[in-house]
Amino acid sequence: MDQLDSSIADKLGQRGYRLTPQRLMVLAAIENSDDHVSAEEIYAQVVARYPYVNISTVYRTLELLKELGLVTEIDLGEGRVRYHPVDKGHHHHLVCQKCGAIIDVDESTLARLQDVLLARYNFSASLRHVAIFGTCGKCRQQQ
Ligand SMILES: [Zn+2]
Ligand SMILES: [Zn+2]
Repeated sequence: MDQLDSSIADKLGQRGYRLTPQRLMVLAAIENSDDHVSAEEIYAQVVARYPYVNISTVYRTLELLKELGLVTEIDLGEGRVRYHPVDKGHHHHLVCQKCGAIIDVDESTLARLQDVLLARYNFSASLRHVAIFGTCGKCRQQQ
């Protein structure tokens, strides 16, 4: 593998966390994926190079990255969460419950909802990386 050019690794190092090979592999798996990766997919990549790595190491690393605000997780309705780096841009997802299609939505789309929640409920919602479930246009046409 090429030298990992990882902004997350830099941030971890700056905060004094040891960059073990396993941690770096988890980071690489997250940062190199175009899409959201699950802990299981990350584990599959790591274990290919480090056969003795336990999946709990992957979970612990993900927990740490989450606590530090370096990765964001999302439940796309599959019963497991998926991850991507926080700096990969802010967006939301529309998930079709019929065909499983996932439509990316610009962050600003929910800005008005945030305003309403603040005005009406005095509640400051952190709407980062939200999944909204429903039915896509294609599936509604077939009904
Ligand atoms: Zn659909
Ligand atoms: Zn996402």
